[in-house]
Amino acid sequence: MLNKKMQKLGEERSVIREIFEYGNQRAKQIGRENVYDFSLGNPSVPAPDGVRQEIEHLLRELPSEKLHGYTSAAGAPEVRQAVSDYITATFGVPMRPELIYMTCGAAASLTVTFHALAEEGDEFIVLTPCFPEYNVFIKQAGGKVVPVCTDSNFHIDIPALAAAINEHTKAVLVNSPNNPTGAVYGEEELKALASLLTEKSKQYKKPIYIIADEPYRELTYGAKVPYIPALYPSTIVCYSFSKSLSLAGERIGYIAVAPACEGSEEIFSAVCGAGRSLGYVCAPALFQRVCAKLLGQSGDIHAYERNRDLLYNALTQAGFTCVLPQGAFYLFMQSPLENATAFCEMAKKHELLLVPSDSFGIKGYVRISTCVDYEMIKRSLPAFSALAKECGLK
Ligand code: PLP
Repeated sequence: MLNKKMQKLGEERSVIREIFEYGNQRAKQIGRENVYDFSLGNPSVPAPDGVRQEIEHLLRELPSEKLHGYTSAAGAPEVRQAVSDYITATFGVPMRPELIYMTCGAAASLTVTFHALAEEGDEFIVLTPCFPEYNVFIKQAGGKVVPVCTDSNFHIDIPALAAAINEHTKAVLVNSPNNPTGAVYGEEELKALASLLTEKSKQYKKPIYIIADEPYRELTYGAKVPYIPALYPSTIVCYSFSKSLSLAGERIGYIAVAPACEGSEEIFSAVCGAGRSLGYVCAPALFQRVCAKLLGQSGDIHAYERNRDLLYNALTQAGFTCVLPQGAFYLFMQSPLENATAFCEMAKKHELLLVPSDSFGIKGYVRISTCVDYEMIKRSLPAFSALAKECGLK
């Protein structure tokens, strides 16, 4: 026999992947240029030139057995040092390399962190709409997912959050810039969150952590992204280079336990233990070293901004409603039909592939990825207009 829970998880189709596969099939039938696929969050701009240059440099400079061999389980010491120095210099938080754990992207950063923290009965608050995989990661770590809806502009609803916190709350997951809404949480909002969690931690006589999921940190269109450990010490940052450096397939990121976090060293030991038990030791060695040289850099954000502007202007002019995203590369649009899945089916008839919001933990919206080819967006605009007409907008 086998683990039925895992079998079920493996057999469950991801809605996003299903739409993407449909797009591939449809492209074979009617030509790729006639399908407008807005489903995936795969970076569409090239990695910065520095990535190739650093790979070539490393291939020249390091003997292959060193370059491709195991690093320490938590990562190469010089890489952890570089990440720590970067955090200290950029955000003014005195980081230490002993609190940096290199991982296989944000998915691994999160999974390891949830496993490191979760004890029986623990609750993890997620702010919805949110990345669907949080549910899988938290449940598998033995935690309970507690969704708290954001406000009408997709910002933190502090009173709703306050009402959801209790003695079982272990952590609040914060993802800014946000997938799927593009919201970027400002300093005042995060300070309000910090003071709420400080008060609740005192009330329940235990730290309530923030887990900051930050794969989109560098992808903003003018908005500042405050560094949460500078505002709230009990923070664990789950970072990834997937989106910023367009390296999603290389699986590389890190966990940074804030140095002022209560019990930071014990938490780091638990991170190492969770990494060990899950087999997430020694993140890809070549890309650890590449990323250490490209900290804080990103691909062409202006291309994403241009895509966002073109789509946002066209959609709102056609009569659709959406909040202008301040970061990440998604537009979260209200579905004109109550049932977002039915609306996505209607959009499909116009060859528009959009993702219904239900799997993000909210009804009545669709997610439109803007990490796509600009020319495809231009070609898709008549289809969006026709869809708006069919829905009776304008
Ligand atoms: N967190 C969020 C909010 C994401 O959108 C994603 C990927 O789309 C991840 C985590 C996982 O990122 P990674 O590819 O680095 O594992």
